[in-house]
Amino acid sequence: FTYTEDDYDYLYKIVVIGESGVGKSNLLMRFVKNQFNLESLPTVGVEFANRSIRIDDKIVKAQIWDISGMEKFRAIRDGYYKGILGAVIVYDITRKATFEKVGSWLKDLRDYNNHQDIAVMLVGNKADLGNLRVVSTHEGKAFSEREGLFFMETSALDAQNVNKAFTEVLTCIYHDTT
Ligand code: GDP
Ligand code: MG
Repeated sequence: FTYTEDDYDYLYKIVVIGESGVGKSNLLMRFVKNQFNLESLPTVGVEFANRSIRIDDKIVKAQIWDISGMEKFRAIRDGYYKGILGAVIVYDITRKATFEKVGSWLKDLRDYNNHQDIAVMLVGNKADLGNLRVVSTHEGKAFSEREGLFFMETSALDAQNVNKAFTEVLTCIYHDTT
C-alpha cells in the first residue's frame, strides 16, 4: 500500500501550544521528521508541518501548527486557532511555572474556539530528565482528568510517547468527526 503526500482522506489542523522552551518545536520535529535538535533556537514566525498517518483504511493528514516564538504575543497567536480540531498543550516536567501556565493556555484555546469540543492532549515533556522532575505524573494526570483532557508524558529527545500523543489526538478527532 503506497500513497503520495497529497493523497489523503481527511485533513486535520491541530496546534501545539505552551510556554517557551518546553519542547514544542522538538516534539513536532520528532513526530514529523523523527529528528531532535539539542540547541534549537526559538524561531519566530508562523510554522507548520504535515504528517499523514493511517487510521482504519483512511489516510489522515495532520497539519500541525507550532506557535514558534510567538508565545507571548497574544494578538498574533489568535490566528493559530482558526479551524483547529485538536490541540497539544505542552509543559516541561522540570519547570513548575510551565505547568502552572497550562490553565491559561487552555482558557485561551477554549475562548477562541467558542468552547467547541476539540480534542486536547496535555503533554508533560522532557520525561527523560527524571532526576530534575518537579511536576509529578499525578499532578499532570489529575489536572487533565479535571479538565477532560488526554494526558501523556513524553520525551522529544528519546522519542518516548511522541507518536502516541499525536496519534491519540488524531484518532480522537477521527472518531468524533466520522
Ligand atoms: P519550544 O520553545 O517549546 O519550541 O521548545 P524547543 O523545542 O525549542 O526546545 C527547547 C529546549 O529544550 C531545546 O534546547 C531542546 O533541545 C530542549 N528539549 C526539547 N524537548 C526535550 C526533551 O524531551 N528532553 C530534553 N532533555 N530536552 C528537550
Ligand atoms: Mg519553538
